[in-house]
Amino acid sequence: MNGKCLIFSAPSGSGKSTIVQWLTKEHPELNLVFSISATSRPPRGTEQHGVEYFFLSPEEFKAKIEADEFLEYEEVYTDRYYGTLKSQVEEQLKSGKNVIFDIDIKGGINVKKFYGEHALALFIQPPSVDELRKRLVGRATDSPEQIEERLAKAEYEMSFAPQFDRIIVNDDLDTAKAETLKAISNFLNAE
Ligand code: 5GP
Repeated sequence: MNGKCLIFSAPSGSGKSTIVQWLTKEHPELNLVFSISATSRPPRGTEQHGVEYFFLSPEEFKAKIEADEFLEYEEVYTDRYYGTLKSQVEEQLKSGKNVIFDIDIKGGINVKKFYGEHALALFIQPPSVDELRKRLVGRATDSPEQIEERLAKAEYEMSFAPQFDRIIVNDDLDTAKAETLKAISNFLNAE
């Protein structure tokens, strides 16, 4: 039987990655795998081709765009592309795995459009802009200017939440995890 798509998008600082990693680690029964994107940025650190990403040259990436091989893609800035290869996802779905997309908001909306009822699109939302500010300040990895920039972006990104199937408010992490698990289990068990 073919697997289904689970899309996770969120403004930064929402705790999305924590929830996704918890699901893949603690819930093997859900049969989850990550979608591996393609990018034209060079590998960083220990990143490997076919593990974190498929690393392509900008020319290779553009050729695949021309050949309509992408489910969705974005050129973040000149020659810096990110995208999801149709063949990659189809292979994973055919093997019966449920494919997780940990993807930016625009990409998430596009994947949902492509897969329709075959996909559950979850928007992980921080409780409020004020709370998000506290978290970013607490994390202490950004300057005050960077924090304000991220907050303005988050506010803009939150305006896309209604386009998702479900909004999970990450106020309390354990509650958010439980809600996510329930939404996914219901979706995967439905006919
Ligand atoms: P990084 O370069 O740090 O790995 O990723 C930068 C950004 O690219 C992240 O915000 C991530 O969500 C986005 N990204 C990664 N893969 C894809 C993809 O397949 N499609 C789109 N649209 N964005 C992606």
